[in-house]
Amino acid sequence: MKIHEVDARGIFAGAGLPVPPSILITQSAEARGAAEKLGCPVVVKSQVLVGGRGKAGGVKLASTPEEAAEKAEAILGMDIKGLTVEKVLIAKAVDISEEFYVGMVYDRVTRKPLMMISPAGGIDIEEVAKSTPEKILKVVIDPIAGIMPFQLRKMSAFLTADKAVAKQLAPVFNGLFKAFMDVDSSLAEINPLVVSPDGKVWAIDAKINIDDNSLYRHAALEEMRDDSSEDPGEVEARDSDLSFVKLDGKIGCIVNGAGLAMATMDMIKYFGSEPANFLDIGGSSSPEKVLAAMKIIVRDPKVKAILINIFGGITRCDDVANGLLRAKKDLGVDIPLVVRLTGTNAEEARVILEGTELVPATTMEEGVKKAIEIASAS
Ligand code: GDP
Ligand code: MN
Repeated sequence: MKIHEVDARGIFAGAGLPVPPSILITQSAEARGAAEKLGCPVVVKSQVLVGGRGKAGGVKLASTPEEAAEKAEAILGMDIKGLTVEKVLIAKAVDISEEFYVGMVYDRVTRKPLMMISPAGGIDIEEVAKSTPEKILKVVIDPIAGIMPFQLRKMSAFLTADKAVAKQLAPVFNGLFKAFMDVDSSLAEINPLVVSPDGKVWAIDAKINIDDNSLYRHAALEEMRDDSSEDPGEVEARDSDLSFVKLDGKIGCIVNGAGLAMATMDMIKYFGSEPANFLDIGGSSSPEKVLAAMKIIVRDPKVKAILINIFGGITRCDDVANGLLRAKKDLGVDIPLVVRLTGTNAEEARVILEGTELVPATTMEEGVKKAIEIASAS
């Protein structure tokens, strides 16, 4: 789950990071008062869940309260990469003499938190990683012990030779690590972390993604959710308790079990096509879940065939068969359905589906091949 900069700033400030004060507004009329309260110059920042707001014109400096009001007026309601700006953060601006990048993710190889830092901050870090990878330092951190003093020194030295600045960096690294762990983030980023001409360090942007699997223990974070940047299908799937990821291919997939779902996607690719989605309808799938899944998949205009691959264990194949027929009728689905049902009550399912338009398949390979054939013919 992505959260807005304003919320990420709050979490960073709580972890002791130097975050300039700011005020969130929803009406341009509130901008002047906010700017007066904070003291100019201020920066007027669109709160939308996409990167590169600055480049898109969604971050503007203002040197007077009047200018802040003008900028807020221009930014509110603006469209940034398909999202409408409904909230704007008025933040105390900082003069910038240096910009660093500081971010944390999980390193999948060592299975530990990884801090990434770069003296080339402010810009697209992916670009830095591509063109000048030597400008990024990666440090694996022990999740229990935290950042070791020698690591703090190494990281500070990588960013600056100025002792007074370096002294302020250690608490920033520690604070970012603390914030990252406290809220179970999958990513926490300060880009840029800046040094002002008076030698003070400030975190002027804040980004945090929360690991969805941890949300059950963060009720307060759940309230920060803003679905507007998510794929509507993914939102609906989450509400229906389905595990769904939207992809770009032609073959919709309805599968039970994450392992079988991945194997199905692999096989679709192996035989030369692309899946339209990952979807795990779960263990004890009711006809309602099949219906919900179908609803989400048929909305994608790219989908030319749907492959239903069910290994019946707890899931009963006859339940799935009933769900499919109901979905086809209720939703008026005219996309061909290729069905492979095996396991518990497979025979009952076969009887239910006999004489219908559904295309039966006995093995997974047969199902995948038939779905590809149908999708490429249309
Ligand atoms: P992003 O584009 O979505 O990453 O948004 P940022 O918060 O990083 O802002 C984009 C850019 O606006 C930054 O890289 C800075 O160049 C500029 N900016 C943001 N805040 C300030 C500030 O307080 N002072 C100055 N001088 N520039 C700022
Ligand atoms: Mn930024």
